[in-house]
Amino acid sequence: MSQPAQSYADFYRHSIEQPDAFWAEQAGLIDWFSAPQRVCNWDNPPFAQWFEGGKLNLCHNALDRHLKQRAQQSALIAVSTETGSERVYSFEQLHAEVQRMAAVLLALGVVKGDRVLIYMPMIAEAAFAMLACARIGAIHCVVFGGFASGSLASRIEDAEPKLIVSADGGSRGGKAIAYKPLLDEAIRLSSHQPQAVLLADRGLATMDLVPGRDHLWAQLREQHLNTPVACESMDSTDISYTIYTSGTTGKPKGVQRDTGGYAVALAASMKHIFDGRAGETYFSTSDIGWVVGHSYIIYGPLIAGMATIMYEGLPTQGLDGQPNGAIWWQLVEKYKVTAMFSAPTAVRVLKKQDPALLKKHDLSSLRALFLAGEPLDEPTARWISEGLQVPIIDNYWQTESGWPILTLANAVEPKEPRFGSPGIAMYGYKVKLLHEATGEELTEPNQKGVVCIEGPTPPGFMQTVWRDDARYLKTYWQSVPGKMVYSTFDWGIRDADGYFFILGRTDDVINVAGHRLGTREIEESISGHPMVAEVAVVGVADQLKGQVAMAFAVLKDASLAGDAQASMKLEGEIMKRVDGDLGAVARPARVRFVTVLPKTRSGKLLRRAIQAVCEGRDPGDLTTLDDASSLEQIRQRLAS
Ligand code: AMP
Repeated sequence: MSQPAQSYADFYRHSIEQPDAFWAEQAGLIDWFSAPQRVCNWDNPPFAQWFEGGKLNLCHNALDRHLKQRAQQSALIAVSTETGSERVYSFEQLHAEVQRMAAVLLALGVVKGDRVLIYMPMIAEAAFAMLACARIGAIHCVVFGGFASGSLASRIEDAEPKLIVSADGGSRGGKAIAYKPLLDEAIRLSSHQPQAVLLADRGLATMDLVPGRDHLWAQLREQHLNTPVACESMDSTDISYTIYTSGTTGKPKGVQRDTGGYAVALAASMKHIFDGRAGETYFSTSDIGWVVGHSYIIYGPLIAGMATIMYEGLPTQGLDGQPNGAIWWQLVEKYKVTAMFSAPTAVRVLKKQDPALLKKHDLSSLRALFLAGEPLDEPTARWISEGLQVPIIDNYWQTESGWPILTLANAVEPKEPRFGSPGIAMYGYKVKLLHEATGEELTEPNQKGVVCIEGPTPPGFMQTVWRDDARYLKTYWQSVPGKMVYSTFDWGIRDADGYFFILGRTDDVINVAGHRLGTREIEESISGHPMVAEVAVVGVADQLKGQVAMAFAVLKDASLAGDAQASMKLEGEIMKRVDGDLGAVARPARVRFVTVLPKTRSGKLLRRAIQAVCEGRDPGDLTTLDDASSLEQIRQRLAS
């Protein structure tokens, strides 16, 4: 670990008290075509603009700038235990593939500022597509490959992509999942029609090509094997990408990110938080469909000059398709991974395997394991930390922030992690705990409040909601009374030493295996079933996945609620419906039928009371509950 030049407390204070000087220094970690003229423009809060006047390109920073020193070193290692393939691209080879992809995008009519939607499994072509967009200044919008037509359609509608990049299919647990029919259906459902669709054919599923619209990557690639494509010179404040995330309404929000602030934030985090060094290997087990995939599979490691592993498959299956609970450790050994990033759910899956698997491979290259996306429970943290004998660093952040808000910056100054805490406020973040009702700042230790961030938000943080400044303002910055602060919608406490503890969401968002889902989205899908009159979806604690969704529905024909056979059939239909609309990640663990839902007299669903009953807790104050029998019914249905 690098020697601390200063204490973290000083480093943090500098970032808060002299933000311009602090971030100007961090800006030196990346290449600029023209230097920024102004570090932070906060003239129009809460819309922070970083590094105005600066010109740069993300793809140049991820690839081109490394060619002089490390052209032959590995850049992208694409491993699929689903197809048994392992492809390693050096910086030079990746640079060539990205240019081919960029040339194909240009040939298909994509220009700077156009949106390109990427709906792909975890294959190298997905990385080519993201980097190619960055190269030509197109805005990419990656949609998680596990989402189904309904979710995909709403994103196509909102992003209005000129082109969609996809593939014939993905695979999970050895089962091929055809993407093309899902994509075709989504395009059919959307009022916006893309001009072209570019498809990678992996030989997993047959594809019906739409003449004039659909193109095969392999064919067009051949035509552009040697077409050089220069990096577009982008303004620092130009949009690099949008990524959709769930909120409390059914309509997903397009989180919009800039170019310069993002590049600087990632370069700084790779140095100070992840201790990622050029020439080494980084392994994040996330998916490009999530923000972790954007920041720490693709851009962060490459900007830092590291090789990055892109992994398709379960954590328990080997390259030969056979069960192998040590596959990730095998990759750590083989590629000498120094920093690894995963999610608590994945570790809980591994915890069920033989602990000897952790000792099977030489893990001496590994310096730390970072975990994020959901609360890290103490037994899981202890198990993996004892097994790996490296620091386990929890980090708390959101799609909106793009990089950690709370963690430990161990490359600045090593600090001991505390079980149950994701850590302390990161440089640039003015993290406050505010009283939910009064907005008053809670400064004493161990007081529970809403975790908020005072502006200006640091580089890398979302710029706004895509095409909806008003929604950005209203959703995030006007939820605490009397103050314009950014709300994370998480409850938290802070101890006397500044370590935070996250206590769950303040809104109707749930977290299933690290994936954020809005209960409203699931409710909307279920309500679409012709027999459902009303439905409530809540997140319920689950040992493996952190939380699972549970649905309670009132049927139009209330008499069916007590009919066991009809209920089972309907439950199956509803689950299938959610699979089809949103994808299997959103499928409720159970659907139960009741004749009335717990509501206040004014008609507001008492989700928290339902959740408490499901978790066997006291539902709390029920003075506003309209019909006391409703909670009783939920109790009974859970037992049945
Ligand atoms: P997403 O935008 O999908 O990454 O979800 C962000 C949300 O996940 C946060 O607002 C938290 O509710 C939760 N979250 C993320 N990381 C952590 C963590 N390390 N500990 C507890 N909760 C977390």
